Amino acid sequence: MSHNIRYYSTNRNLEGVPGIVPFRETVSFREALLQGQAPDEGLFMPHPIPELPLNDISALKGKSYTKAAMLVAKAFLEDEIPDRILEKIVVDSYNYPIPLEKVVNRKYLMRLDQGPTASFKDFAARMMARLMSHFRKEGTRLNVLVATSGDTGSAVGDAFKGVEGIDVYILYPSGEVSVRQKKQLDTIGDNVQAISVDGKFDDCQNLVKQAFSDPSLADLNLTSANSINFGRILPQIVYYVYAYSQLAGKREEIVFSVPSGNFGNALGCEYARRMGLPVKKLVMPTNENDEFPRFLAKGIYEKISPSKACLSSAMNVGHPSNLARFFDLYGGTVDRAGIVHRYPDMNEMGRRIFSVSVSDEETKETINRVHGRYGVLLEPHGAVGWRGLEIYLEQSGDFPLCVSLETAHPAKFPDEIRELLGIIPDLPVSMKDIDQREGGPFEMSAGYKNFKDYLQTHLKMRS
Ligand SMILES: *Cc1c(COP(=O)(O)O)cnc(C)c1O
Repeated sequence: MSHNIRYYSTNRNLEGVPGIVPFRETVSFREALLQGQAPDEGLFMPHPIPELPLNDISALKGKSYTKAAMLVAKAFLEDEIPDRILEKIVVDSYNYPIPLEKVVNRKYLMRLDQGPTASFKDFAARMMARLMSHFRKEGTRLNVLVATSGDTGSAVGDAFKGVEGIDVYILYPSGEVSVRQKKQLDTIGDNVQAISVDGKFDDCQNLVKQAFSDPSLADLNLTSANSINFGRILPQIVYYVYAYSQLAGKREEIVFSVPSGNFGNALGCEYARRMGLPVKKLVMPTNENDEFPRFLAKGIYEKISPSKACLSSAMNVGHPSNLARFFDLYGGTVDRAGIVHRYPDMNEMGRRIFSVSVSDEETKETINRVHGRYGVLLEPHGAVGWRGLEIYLEQSGDFPLCVSLETAHPAKFPDEIRELLGIIPDLPVSMKDIDQREGGPFEMSAGYKNFKDYLQTHLKMRS
């Protein structure tokens, strides 16, 4: 059965906006994956969104995660990848557990922290790496550049380690990553090179952006693995389908709570619902960067710049990059600068989505209380998710089946946990040897000329 799914740009209707030439064409998944974003700087959106029959979802009960991943991936990709290859990609990507932990009554915690770098970003990065390797042009090498302030770099680096035909260069600010993060980034090795830049995160991002737009580097097959790539969204649909299939009764509705920063994770749930999953409400709690809950309440969008530094640091985002996709799905348009060109259907958005800001104070209180009352250990991101769910349930007065997502392993935050609970969380198996790993970065100043020289002398173009 052919769906012929094509990918359009969220900026396609931005007629007469200075600096933007709307991209009116559509592309295949392969092109969307390898290009990352549309030529008009919009984000690629699949159309039509494939449907999953509820019977197929329910039939996953008791089955492995890879079966759920196959069902979702096939719905999008069956025209572009043979089943046999897709199956191998999925099986290679997901070789770690996905615990669904009962907290109380019908409220569960889904721990997405058991992958090799202990954050939920492993789910998307691992599958995207294998998809890129499959789709690259035969005989060529792809060179992936990533600027990171921590979690994304290690997830992407680890995911691409040993993947055929691809090399990865991770740029991080020398003074802005923790000792453990630096260790994670420097020691991946193999086809993944860490570059420690004497500058800030913004400098790293600028170097990468400049390299992408430099015509004299066009023959280096540069590509990006950042979070706006649809190849990172697709794998994040799977765990919602999986959790539902394992926990829900016949035709039952479910509430998911997703601690949110750039909204890529929550977008996976939004797509899952549109594919047919009976999601009653998508709860999207934020930390003190509250531009989205304020938007839902007031109907006016004001980004927060610079963003506020909160405990849940991976969610310190003042203008979520995937907001453009949410707007588009509800009939609106917002650009990269945060300017709204058309407002989405606010009634419909409010009916489907609940969002609330959770302060650092409440985050700590939640870690304490949930540990004391239920014996369940949360870290700051998961605590924002859990508190957001509690607030939603208090306001709705409802008792539905609920799943809140834990997006990182508590052992990544040893100081915060020790201070609050007086315990030191065990390292996950994947990180047990972290302090003994060996390897160092390439060190570089923040000037573009240096970086360009480095790329021209080190990068390989052929496999
Ligand atoms: C990236 C990240 C988030 C935020 O996810 P988005 O998809 O950007 O909303 C939340 N928690 C952790 C631990 C993360 O690394």
